[in-house]
Amino acid sequence: RSDGFAEKEKTLAIIKPDGLYDNCTDKIKNAIFDSGFTIVKEMLIQLDEEAAMSFYAEHSSRSFFSSLVKYMTSGPVLIMVLEKENAVADWRALIGPTDASKAKITHPNSIRAMYGLDLQKNCVHGSDSPQSAQREISFFFKEKSSGSAVTEHDEL
Ligand code: ADP
Ligand code: MG
Repeated sequence: RSDGFAEKEKTLAIIKPDGLYDNCTDKIKNAIFDSGFTIVKEMLIQLDEEAAMSFYAEHSSRSFFSSLVKYMTSGPVLIMVLEKENAVADWRALIGPTDASKAKITHPNSIRAMYGLDLQKNCVHGSDSPQSAQREISFFFKEKSSGSAVTEHDEL
């Protein structure tokens, strides 16, 4: 844009059960704020099997799918909508690669490197494209007219 105002973008972030269990929430939120994101929506929920399977439907044929669903339903998760310019790509860059154990070597300052454990227990989720972000945000946060898989909540 030529008027100096950057277009803001939204992405979906999740602190997964291991991240919440290890009390990493405050540290992860500090990293979020330090990187210039605003948390525009937030909700703490327990995913049931159906919601976890639906959210990760793209992975339903993978060998790790049942294990992933078990992990994601093993405790509460913190769902957040993050906003900033270039939010989708910047959040993916901040969390680092999927495999937290490899990230500890290749991306030591990433959130997954610092607070994650391995390929599965990697403490956070991030939408992988603007299209995924839209789909994932409406999955958790009910639009006025359309349905979502999870019950209603209030905006912060
Ligand atoms: P990302 O979360 O980086 O987008 P994917 O979409 O490929 O990664 O996978 C979704 C989630 O499934 C990962 O964050 C991780 O928790 C888990 N996962 C991915 N690949 C594996 C695997 N090979 N074995 C176990 N868990 C996996
Ligand atoms: Mg993914």
